Amino acid sequence: MSGLPPMVHHPDYSFPFPPEHRFPMAKFGLLADYLRTRGLLTAANTYRPGRCRDHWLKQTHCPEYLDRFINNTLSRDERRQMNLPWSDGLVKRTLLAPSGTVLAAQLALHHGLACHLAGGTHHAHYDHASGFCILNDLAITAHVLLRQTGVKRVLIFDCDVHQGDGTASLLKNEPNAFTCSIHCENNFPFTKATSDLDVGLPVGMNDDDYLSVVDRTLNRLLDTFSPDIVLYDAGVDVFSGDPLGRLNITEGGIRQRDTQVLGTLVRRGIPVATVIGGGYDDDRQALAARHAIIAEAAVAVMR
Ligand SMILES: [Zn+2]
Repeated sequence: MSGLPPMVHHPDYSFPFPPEHRFPMAKFGLLADYLRTRGLLTAANTYRPGRCRDHWLKQTHCPEYLDRFINNTLSRDERRQMNLPWSDGLVKRTLLAPSGTVLAAQLALHHGLACHLAGGTHHAHYDHASGFCILNDLAITAHVLLRQTGVKRVLIFDCDVHQGDGTASLLKNEPNAFTCSIHCENNFPFTKATSDLDVGLPVGMNDDDYLSVVDRTLNRLLDTFSPDIVLYDAGVDVFSGDPLGRLNITEGGIRQRDTQVLGTLVRRGIPVATVIGGGYDDDRQALAARHAIIAEAAVAVMR
């Protein structure tokens, strides 16, 4: 693998989409381009997922909701919750991405570390979409790992600026999946779910305070929960300039966070699969570069 960590990507993650929409659908393709240009995503370390198995989808989500989404028969309210224009391209990418996170987790179990260049749709609930999230790849992957592999304990370490409410709800009766969300308290979703551990941060928190909370929380969880694998949501909407953020974290701070999290896990020999999570910016190239930080950190930690 030429020393590069495995990276999971599919060319259909980005598809023709209204460019003025708040959700930056182009970012997945731009992120892959960015990494390819820098020699970090090559034929040797690229893995492509297939369509998520029905069985995997249905052990986490409501089968009727899945059917309504796939067949474009969602109600008006459901479409409003989804807040993304339905299209064949949307269905295709939505059914690919969860198996991308499963694939990244399987690669992480084998190689120690793997990056999914998408994923982290943590607001999706059992039978409805929310916050641009239709299916919950993190909960789907946790269920697959616990039920279809030998994994005993999964830690979901979610550092997206928004609370992982869907993941918390979907896994609340699963004692072997520990959900931890470190988010800005006064931000979407305004009605929070209850994760196994919620760390609500004040608006405007800066790098030093943030990095120390993330480090302390991770180390405490590794000592107490002893996961066999970690799913790390490296959302970049903690960035100071993110329009949906409200924290005051620099790009240097994000790089330090990701290097610190991956370094800790690799040092302790705990497999980790990363997902990119949220990130918003009218400058799509700048956003792609910001999402590349987690992949660059993975390369640095593996060297
Ligand atoms: Zn977010």
